[in-house]
Amino acid sequence: PSTEYEALKRKLHSGILEFWWFVSSEVKKIRKEAENFSPLLASKFNNILDLGIEHKRSLIKDVSGLNHADGYASWRQNEFEELSSLIQRRLDYLQNPSDCSKAKKLVCNLNKGCGFGCQLHHVIYCFIMAYGLERTLILKSKGWRYGVSGWESVFFPLSRTCTSANGSSHGPWRANGNVQVMNLPIIDSLTPRSKFLPGAVPNDIAGRLTRIHGNPTVWWIGQFLKYMLKYQPATKQMLDDFGRKVNFQNPIVGVHIRRTDKVGTEAAFHSVEEYMSHVEEYFQQLLVSQPVPQKRIYLATDDPKVFTEIRQKYPEYEVLGDAVISKSASLGNRYSRSSLDGIITDIHFLARTDFLVCTFSSQVCRIAYEIMNALVPDAADHFKSLDDVYYFGGQEPHYHVAVLPHTAKTPQEMNLKVGDILTIAGNHWDGYSKGSNLRSQVYASLFPSFKVQPKVETADFPTYPQVPL
Ligand code: GDP
Repeated sequence: PSTEYEALKRKLHSGILEFWWFVSSEVKKIRKEAENFSPLLASKFNNILDLGIEHKRSLIKDVSGLNHADGYASWRQNEFEELSSLIQRRLDYLQNPSDCSKAKKLVCNLNKGCGFGCQLHHVIYCFIMAYGLERTLILKSKGWRYGVSGWESVFFPLSRTCTSANGSSHGPWRANGNVQVMNLPIIDSLTPRSKFLPGAVPNDIAGRLTRIHGNPTVWWIGQFLKYMLKYQPATKQMLDDFGRKVNFQNPIVGVHIRRTDKVGTEAAFHSVEEYMSHVEEYFQQLLVSQPVPQKRIYLATDDPKVFTEIRQKYPEYEVLGDAVISKSASLGNRYSRSSLDGIITDIHFLARTDFLVCTFSSQVCRIAYEIMNALVPDAADHFKSLDDVYYFGGQEPHYHVAVLPHTAKTPQEMNLKVGDILTIAGNHWDGYSKGSNLRSQVYASLFPSFKVQPKVETADFPTYPQVPL
């Protein structure tokens, strides 16, 4: 299939959703006004919403049907596997130099002062830099806050041949530095910046990647997690046992509810009802195409009370997960060895659901989403975030391009000219996004989301000719 065809299919899918979010939220606003003076009029708006959502589901079913009807499904699966295999083999080559004493190295310390998701993102950043600089990544993890014996207590080491940071010369980060062993600071302190930082994807695979995937950056990041998170036998055993205990099976929606210290500091409170309304819509959508004998969620949270609340309010749902895990995830013993097992378990199963409902302000959910995109072809739209759009913390600006002109209808909106470059602060999930226009220098202003398209950033990464295609 052509890149244009694949892109149009994805654009139709997101366009239908944006259209529905726009229409339904506008109708809801008018309905609210109508309720004050005419219950009859309000009920007519309800009818529009009721039939409208059915219409939306039917359209989504049809556009999703193209993926099977066009005869390219096995091509997509193969291409997804081949691209992944290529990157995994390159990483294997990079990480296993034949002579560790002479290898160029990049040293990264796992113990960034933050949570597990944040630490994994730190390692991903280091690993991407290592790939870009053609340096073997050396991960330091002794004294890890989640388990003093380090990374290897739960995951395999990142190399079979080279885990020592020894070398003839050591030095700090320099873009073209020549020391044998280079130390990498955290992403926020990296100066000068590097062209390899997310969301850039390698030029040599960008064409293939934009064809098969709706969010090349997420796919790229997922590949590093795929390489990193190789479970030690005991970890694998724990996950298998847990999966059997809760009887994990699809279809299932992953729900991550981040509360405790996050609420009011880095994110707003979102009610259980808000999460569950999106879960419900996932199943209503699925029901148009297949029977759903049992609605099921995998629930992960740092607030054990949420388990009781959801089970009480949604008795028709099977709620998988474990309140004991969420207890160890609440602040008291968050950074303990037992909380490590808990967070590994929750991320593992969230990533294996069919759809995620969560807040992308949390690194836990973003990690699960990234892993999900390494497991199944194009899972770019398998999520509903109640707050942020997807991003990688510390990333370079992610630009969007206006593909349709726009004339502002309210003072809160901006004008768009085709070709305008924008940064996006957030999608309001009501047909509008907020962002800044680099041409007109209008900042923090609204525009219709469907009138812009994300720009895929690429960089000249090394192409690893030693590794066959
Ligand atoms: P963020 O603060 O949500 O962006 O993510 P971090 O991973 O940086 O820090 C939050 C930490 O809280 C996690 O690493 C876990 O230790 C704990 N935590 C938060 N949510 C969950 C959850 O759903 N399950 C488990 N097991 N732990 C969680």
